[in-house]
Amino acid sequence: MPSGPAIELKGVSKRFDTFVALDGVALEIRAGELLALLGPSGSGKTTLLRIIAGLEWPDTGDLLLGGESAVRRGVRERQIGFVFQHYALFRHMSVTENVAFGLRVMPRNRRPAEGEIRARVQKLLDLVQIGHLGDRHPGQLSGGERQRVALARALAIEPSVLLLDEPFGALDAKVRKELRRWLRQLHDRLSMTTVFVTHDQEEALELADRVVVLGRGRIEQVGTPEEVYGAPSNPFVFDFLGQVNRVRCQVRGGRPIVPYAHIEQLNGDPSRDGPGTLYVRPHDVILARDPAGPATVRFVGVVGPVVRLEIEVVMGAPVLEAELPNHVYAGYRFAAGERVSVRFRSATLFPDIAAGPEELSPADLSLLSASL
Ligand code: ADP
Ligand code: MG
Repeated sequence: MPSGPAIELKGVSKRFDTFVALDGVALEIRAGELLALLGPSGSGKTTLLRIIAGLEWPDTGDLLLGGESAVRRGVRERQIGFVFQHYALFRHMSVTENVAFGLRVMPRNRRPAEGEIRARVQKLLDLVQIGHLGDRHPGQLSGGERQRVALARALAIEPSVLLLDEPFGALDAKVRKELRRWLRQLHDRLSMTTVFVTHDQEEALELADRVVVLGRGRIEQVGTPEEVYGAPSNPFVFDFLGQVNRVRCQVRGGRPIVPYAHIEQLNGDPSRDGPGTLYVRPHDVILARDPAGPATVRFVGVVGPVVRLEIEVVMGAPVLEAELPNHVYAGYRFAAGERVSVRFRSATLFPDIAAGPEELSPADLSLLSASL
């Protein structure tokens, strides 16, 4: 097996008319890894996948497959299997025929013999756990079963790279979860290189070896799920990978000042004085009952394993969201209207981006400091 990356994108850009869909994307995808491409709708995920597959061409930059430039190679020569969200199966063909299709259209010199095709298709159907459904037609299958057929069909040509574009996007939450765990196991068994597109952060974080976060045609961050979730490199990634409180602060003498909260662990660079924004995950907001506290509990949502609280610090300012496990909450039982003190277990400082009108101004902050 080659030791270099299986897929390499070098400065890949792509426009549609004047719209820049991809802007200088550079990425190495390792052989055998399961990589998630995560980003909001319109961020260029599908375009990137189509370029790897050979369905679309970059305007500038290069694509290397197994170390060699592949932009001039056709789709069939790339040995890539793909599954799309709405991969239309051939409705008039049985499941077996759908899966066999890629093999039957192979050039005669590469096409397996009929008996071998049959055997291979049955093996694939067993692999995706629908071995008993070979004679059905797509109309007689559930959504989850159809995507298994699409996957078996993509695997039939024995691809070295498997591309999946939101393959479970149309399925309901429970089936989706089941299929993604199963896909992970399948990937591990087949030792393929797999690139999986999703706009669902939970799906990406649970499934992938590494996650690439795309925003408006650019790579915002690449890392393991722990890295991108635990240490987002910019506000975009922070926002996209889960709920977050944005807290205005003033940085002075190497410390961000939030008059109503104590910061336990600070990430980010506080060396420049001036206004800044702290990003704080709801589970890092710690409350304590305190009749003289600076904040008031406004809302308590107790349904589910996690209790969600909304905290108002200053009238008219955005509320802070806090989360704690139900069994921990049981020891406190905060009620709406109660006063509390606030600590941030962990907060990440980013230099200021323009303040929104609803946020605290430096003047508000100094007023507030004076009143505490
Ligand atoms: P994603 O898959 O992340 O939702 P896409 O790669 O499909 O994003 O699209 C990125 C942007 O490029 C979108 O704004 C989309 O409208 C635009 N786009 C994609 N394909 C075309 C096309 N063939 N013609 C014009 N615009 C396109
Ligand atoms: Mg897409």
